[in-house]
Amino acid sequence: MKKAVVIGAGIGGIATAIRLSRLGFKVHVYEQSYMPGGKCTQFEMEGYRFDKGPSLFTLPEVMKELFDLCGEEMSAHFEYDELDPICKYFYEDGLEFTSCSNLDEQVKNMAQVFQEDENRVRDFFRDSKFIYETTAPIFMHRPLQLKHQWRTKTFWNGIVRLPFLPLRGNLQRQLKRYFKNEKTIQYFSRYATYNGSSPYATPAMMQLMPHVEHGIGAFIPKRGMFFIPYALSKLAERNGVEFHYGMGVREIVLDKQKVCGIRLWNQNIISADLVVSNMDVHGTYKQLLPSVKAPEKWLNQEKSSSALIFYWGMNRTFDQLNVHNIFFARDYESEFKCLFEDKTLHEDLTVYIHITSKHIAADAPQGCENWFVMVNAPCVSEQNWKSLELLARRNIVSKLERMLCTSIEEHIVCERIWNPEGIQQDTSSHLGALYGNASNSAYSAFQRHANVSQEIKNLYFVGGSVHPGGGVPLAMLSAKMVEQHILAHE
Ligand SMILES: Cc1cc2nc3c(=O)[nH]c(=O)nc-3n(C[C@H](O)[C@H](O)[C@H](O)COP(=O)(O)OP(=O)(O)OC[C@H]3O[C@@H](n4cnc5c(N)ncnc54)[C@H](O)[C@@H]3O)c2cc1C
Repeated sequence: MKKAVVIGAGIGGIATAIRLSRLGFKVHVYEQSYMPGGKCTQFEMEGYRFDKGPSLFTLPEVMKELFDLCGEEMSAHFEYDELDPICKYFYEDGLEFTSCSNLDEQVKNMAQVFQEDENRVRDFFRDSKFIYETTAPIFMHRPLQLKHQWRTKTFWNGIVRLPFLPLRGNLQRQLKRYFKNEKTIQYFSRYATYNGSSPYATPAMMQLMPHVEHGIGAFIPKRGMFFIPYALSKLAERNGVEFHYGMGVREIVLDKQKVCGIRLWNQNIISADLVVSNMDVHGTYKQLLPSVKAPEKWLNQEKSSSALIFYWGMNRTFDQLNVHNIFFARDYESEFKCLFEDKTLHEDLTVYIHITSKHIAADAPQGCENWFVMVNAPCVSEQNWKSLELLARRNIVSKLERMLCTSIEEHIVCERIWNPEGIQQDTSSHLGALYGNASNSAYSAFQRHANVSQEIKNLYFVGGSVHPGGGVPLAMLSAKMVEQHILAHE
């Protein structure tokens, strides 16, 4: 039986372990922390449970594919609900809009609340679906580097539709083709942040994102987001995968240009026929492969945004809020200029509040709520995070108190903070980026590191920092790419 080692038990690492076990490998996963999940973990504080990272669950069929592969019913091990309403949006001038899962209703509501032409809203969603359905099969499910993909019907079906895609211009320009109200444009601009990009730089193709949420659906696991990696790690264990927690990897051991194992922090050497790194590709090269010339071109692409998160235990409930809530900044463009150009936080931030206890009662004591309060933040450079945190916290509390017309500060009974430096430290994510590279140019989608090493035999890469990109479903799909590369190389 061939032996495979996976470095890291993030979503991509666990999904790879499952796929490799189905290919007949004996798989060992070495994870530096004491639980699975990477960015998608959880913690408890004074009776409140918090999902630490991701909050929105999309494309559940990607996860189901892993259960199907193992011949198991996902519903027996992992349950989730479709969210309806999806998200409540608050604008500074007092306008509120609640998005819903029924597309027809969503179109009518948007036309009415934002005074847009209903047909244009409908056209927008139709085109969003078209872009998604054209690009997903060739880009999200298949490694572009495998030449035999270029001969498939799926590939050519996508290629013949390319001329009908918005291949030029950025998302802002694209949105202005459909909408006249700045608030509608701000609403759809926000989807650029779903992969940590700027709506003022990301390509027009990013119009595909709203289809994922409104055409396919927004979901919430019945026991919280952490249950995604937890349920997957149990599925992996049932298929013979062994997890070694609290065991960091110091080095990938090579024999000439071929992988032969790993060296752990405790200096033990573990032999392996192949190694898949779920560590950020930047750290994989710089820390685990010190003798290998790193592909600087791929590693030095602009990184996605990071985040500053306040986890607040609230001692009361807030009826005016939903599971997902957005409080928009007045000047969105300046906020993103601060993030991507000045590498700092604007004073008026767009604030996202996620409250799982509205759906999962056990996540907070009775009559209380668990608030995950997040703002987009720049990647780590030379900021003083302690002072930025203080400033941001003051601005966020006063914005929420003003917009909700109620006191907030006095209801916060416990607090924890995760800043970009913490994200970098805890998950080894380069500069604390949430999604690997940013998609701030028309070429970014093609400038992610591949899932296989060109120089070192039997070395593979999985997770948000490599192809096809960041986010829970894409990290899972990158494992599918690794599998296809392994099959092609056998
Ligand atoms: C605050 C926040 C909000 C987010 N919101 C969303 C959202 O709403 N929806 C969504 O889809 N996505 C969201 N994301 C992104 C999503 O969480 C990630 O894209 C995805 O979880 C990344 O998975 P991954 O496979 O790349 O592994 P990672 O989560 O990056 O995990 C890598 C693992 O490798 C381990 N590791 C690293 N180096 C070593 C080593 N040397 N030895 C051993 N182990 C090592 C780490 O400890 C970690 O467990 C969010 C992320 C954050 C942080």
